[in-house]
Amino acid sequence: MHLYKTVAGLRSALASRRDRRAIGLVPTMGALHLGHASLIQRAVAENDIVVVSIFVNPLQFGPSEDLQEYPRQLEKDCRVCEQYGVDIVFAPTVEEMGTPPSQESPSSTVTAVVPPPEMTSVLCGQFRPGHFQGVATIVTKLFNIIAPNNAYFGEKDAQQLAILRRVVKDLNIPVEVKACPTVREASGLALSSRNQYLSETEREQAKAIYRSLQAARKAFCTGEREAFKLINIVKQELALTPEVKVQYVELVHPQTLTRLEKIEEAGLLAIAAYVGSTRLIDNVILRHRRPIIAIDGPAGAGKSTVTRRVAQSLNLLHLDTGAMYRAVAWLVMRSGISLDDEGAIAELVTQANLELIPAEPPNPTRVKINGEDVTETIRTPEVTAIVSQIAAKASVRQALVQQQQRYGKTGGIVAEGRDIGTAVFPDAELKIFLTASVEERAKRRWQDFKEQGREEISLEQLEQDIQARDYFDSHREIAPLQQAIDAIKIDTDKLSIEEVTEQIINLYEQLDSKA
Ligand code: AMP
Repeated sequence: MHLYKTVAGLRSALASRRDRRAIGLVPTMGALHLGHASLIQRAVAENDIVVVSIFVNPLQFGPSEDLQEYPRQLEKDCRVCEQYGVDIVFAPTVEEMGTPPSQESPSSTVTAVVPPPEMTSVLCGQFRPGHFQGVATIVTKLFNIIAPNNAYFGEKDAQQLAILRRVVKDLNIPVEVKACPTVREASGLALSSRNQYLSETEREQAKAIYRSLQAARKAFCTGEREAFKLINIVKQELALTPEVKVQYVELVHPQTLTRLEKIEEAGLLAIAAYVGSTRLIDNVILRHRRPIIAIDGPAGAGKSTVTRRVAQSLNLLHLDTGAMYRAVAWLVMRSGISLDDEGAIAELVTQANLELIPAEPPNPTRVKINGEDVTETIRTPEVTAIVSQIAAKASVRQALVQQQQRYGKTGGIVAEGRDIGTAVFPDAELKIFLTASVEERAKRRWQDFKEQGREEISLEQLEQDIQARDYFDSHREIAPLQQAIDAIKIDTDKLSIEEVTEQIINLYEQLDSKA
C-alpha cells in the first residue's frame, strides 16, 4: 500500500496503473471504524484499484464546530487500510487541497460547488450553514484529481449522499455513486468517528436515538404513513431519555430531500441530537415496497430456471434482465447501426422505451421496446449472436441498470444476473448467490446437449469452457461476477431445481415474517 500526500504523487501513481482498470474511491475524514471498513471492503471487492482519501476538510466545519478536536490518527488508519487491501491512501494537507487553513479564512476565497439550496437548507443544513457546500467542493475536487469509476458513501450521512448524487448528475461527473448501509454497534448505535467523544454514560444514552427510529419503523410496518405521527413517535421515545437533546426530527424524500407530509413510496426519517456536547446523526429509510430477491451466480448454476420458478410460485415479477439486453440488441440490429458505433448505440439505448409486462404463468414476461412487442423475436439466433457484445457496452449497461432500478422502486420482483445483488439492487431484501462446482455445471450442460442430440462436445471440453468463462466473468471490466457480502450462498451440486426453489421460497417467507 502507498501513502501519497500530494496531488502530483497520487496522479502519477494512478496514471501508471490506470490502463482501463476500475478505480474505487472511499472519501473519509479518517479515524476509521468498522463503518468506513464496510465501504472499503465493498470498494476492494468491486474495483481493481482502491483509493481511500483521508482529509479533515475545514470547509465543512462551522466556526464553533470541532475542527481542531476532530480525531486524527493517520498511522493507525493506514494500517487499517493495508489490512483491508487498499492500494493507495491519499492524505493531503490543507494547503495541498487549496482549502483555507483555518476557520478564520472565509470559504469564499476558493471556487465552490454550490448544491441546490432546497437540498442544503433542510435537515443538518439548517444548523450547519456552508457544510454541504464544503463537502460538495472537496468531493468534486477528489473526483477531478482521482477520476474514480466508483465512489462509496455511507447511508448514515443520508443528506450528504443525496446531495453528492445530485452534484454528480448536475455536473455530469463520470462516476458511479454507491451507497452503503449504516454499520451499527450491537446496541443499534450508528458507528461514527465522533462516538470517541462519548463517555460510557453518554454512550448508553445515545442508544435512544436508534431505538426511537425503530419505534417509528415499527409503526410504519403496521401501516402508519403520516409524517407528523411518525415524527411524534420518534420524539416520544426520545423524551424517555431527556439527556438526548433533539436538534431536529424530519421526514423527507430520500433523493430530493423535500419534506413529506405522507410517505407514498419511501421516506427518509432523520435525526440530529446532542448527547452531552457531541452531536450525533442517524436515520432510517422507510420504504413502502415489496421485497426484492436478487439472484447472482456463475453461468450454468441454474439462475434463470430457478428465478422463473421462484417468480411463479411467489407471484413476483420476473425481471428478465437478459430479455432487456436482447431487446436492445434487436433494436440495434433493426436500426442498422454498426456494433462498433458506440455513440449511436448509446443514443439509441438512452432514448429507448423498454417495458416488461407480466404474463399469466407459465408464459414468459412480455417485452416491448418503443411500443413494439418483441417477446418472440428477441430469441432468434441473430439476436443471440450479438447480445453479449451489446451487453458489454458501458452505455447500454448504464441505461438498462437505471431501468431495472426503476422497476425495483415498488419491489415485488425477482431478478437474476451476474451482478444483480452487488450493483443493481445492493439493497435487495434477499440476495442469493447460486453456485455449483465446475464439474457439476459441465455435467448439466453435457446432459442438455445430449438431450438435444449433440454428443460431439466432450465433458472435458465443457469443463474447460466453463472454467474459462468463470475467469472472464469474474475479471471483466463491466459488471464482473462477485458474491455480495450479504448474499446467502446456495451450492446446488447436490440439489434439484425444486429443492433450490423451495429453499429460496422459505427464505423469502422468513423475510416476510420478520417484517
Ligand atoms: P467521515 O469520515 O465521517 O466523513 O465518513 C466517511 C464515509 O464513511 C462517509 O461516506 C460516511 O457516510 C461513511 N460512514 C461513516 N459512518 C458510517 C457507518 N456507521 N456506516 C456506514 N458508513 C459510514
